[in-house]
Amino acid sequence: MSKSNAKFFSAISSFLVAAAVVSWNVRCEAAEQPRVKNVILLVADGCATDQYTLARWYHGKPLPTDGILVGAVKTYAADSVITDSAPAASAYATGVRTSSKGISVGPGPKTLSIVPKPPEDLQRRPLATVLEGARLAGKATGIVVTCRASHATPAAFMAHTPLRDREEDIMEQAVHQNVDLVLGGGRDYLVPKSAGGKRSDGENHLETLKARGYRIIGTRDELAQLGSGRVFGMFAKEHMAAEIDRREFGPGQPSLEEMTRKAIELLAQRPQGFFLMVEGSQVDWGCHANDPAHMLGDLLMFERAVQAALDFAAKDGSTLVLALSDHNTGGMSIGNSSARGSSTQMPEKDLLEPLRRMKLSAPGMWKKLGSDKTPAGVKRIVKEYWGMAITDADANQILAVAKRDKDTPQNAFGEVLCPKYTVIGWTTHGHCGGDVPLFAFGPGRPAGLVDSPEIGRVIARALGLDLEKLTERLFVDAKQAFGDGKVTLDAADKQNPVVAIEFQGKTARLPVNKNLVQLGGKAVELEGVVVYASDTGKAYIPVQAVKMIRGQATAER
Ligand SMILES: [Zn+2]
Repeated sequence: MSKSNAKFFSAISSFLVAAAVVSWNVRCEAAEQPRVKNVILLVADGCATDQYTLARWYHGKPLPTDGILVGAVKTYAADSVITDSAPAASAYATGVRTSSKGISVGPGPKTLSIVPKPPEDLQRRPLATVLEGARLAGKATGIVVTCRASHATPAAFMAHTPLRDREEDIMEQAVHQNVDLVLGGGRDYLVPKSAGGKRSDGENHLETLKARGYRIIGTRDELAQLGSGRVFGMFAKEHMAAEIDRREFGPGQPSLEEMTRKAIELLAQRPQGFFLMVEGSQVDWGCHANDPAHMLGDLLMFERAVQAALDFAAKDGSTLVLALSDHNTGGMSIGNSSARGSSTQMPEKDLLEPLRRMKLSAPGMWKKLGSDKTPAGVKRIVKEYWGMAITDADANQILAVAKRDKDTPQNAFGEVLCPKYTVIGWTTHGHCGGDVPLFAFGPGRPAGLVDSPEIGRVIARALGLDLEKLTERLFVDAKQAFGDGKVTLDAADKQNPVVAIEFQGKTARLPVNKNLVQLGGKAVELEGVVVYASDTGKAYIPVQAVKMIRGQATAER
């Protein structure tokens, strides 16, 4: 073959490969026979390349992710160049690009110019997730996080709601999702206010879980002792402690690595395989606060969780490991505008020494400051925990910024001190719109520059799932299914609404956020949760429920 011919053929074949990939992506129902038994997805919330680079310098040797870099992920949401964690995680969970604040529901009508306007029946409707699909395929499923289990990223795999803040609804759906293992924080969202928790609907879902055969555990020791079975490990009332603060503020809590290793040990007992999502939830918060201490502690612990996944996958041979972020946060850079920070003659010590003196997260320092909100108090705390001898002016500035940002006073430490006492730069306390690195290992791993929803489709393909069909199976618009009946939302008990379906003289009742149908005096468990989309007024129920309600009517006729 001549040189130019070879070039032409290689161009043609890469075109054909690209075309094949495109049609593959679009028609995931034509998925190949699954070669992958297990998928472990690890999300370092809110960071991009520079944070990993900084973690590597700090660690002093290569990171587990270093050897498995395969590409990058485009992170934008359907309606925003900069995404929040809710649509970002929803893309990974459902394979669909969705809109701000939504938890695994279709995009809204307003989209970016490059995003096609979604068809009306897709808008704001619940979308099946890879976790739901894995469960219906008989696989074990697990969620491991260091935030509340009802926070945006884990929520996107276990729940469906237009607003990520509805954490009571999210936790209720997580309880009724039949996930095999949930490890993280958020115990208060399972417990009613009357019993000291946060739930305003009066329900005690610790009891629900126990009745369903779950073990409820709350400490690192209890986790270590687990040998099998379904478990909710709720290690904190709210979020778990920052890794760097764990000894100080969460001594009984397991690390992300310990939770990940235990999760794999338990889930891998299922012969059909498993799906596990692990989130280093607080990398994002460290970056929001421009706090290198919080960020580094949690990102390095995330790396240890990645190593746990890789250890298993290397032995197993049929496990796909994906590690990535959902977006960048803080716009961190190695280098800032200070004289030292912009030097191209920078010795390692300029980068590392200030960071090595940090012994507590910024929220941890704010907590330690307590009521002593004086310049002297601030100077003392910063000296003790970040090893910096700061000036009165610095201390006053920290107090002023903390007063300005009342909800996030801890952000003041990093904002004031990083530019002056470190060579780390930050551009924002918010999220950023850039691409994030993609790490992967095992069969079916993606490569190149990947669109965020493609990650969800990669997982679906690996597990042999057809997410579109699963969405049709799990979420039928009840009014469409019962055009010949009557569907209403019974909100007599405001906190516990019920979808009521009158059909041929009988009424079926389906409590919102649960996987139950009450029919002919009996409550029967369903294969999916009942979702009420408050923004469209539509109720979604599994096809299984439609069949049962229609079937009963037929049987009794
Ligand atoms: Zn995020």
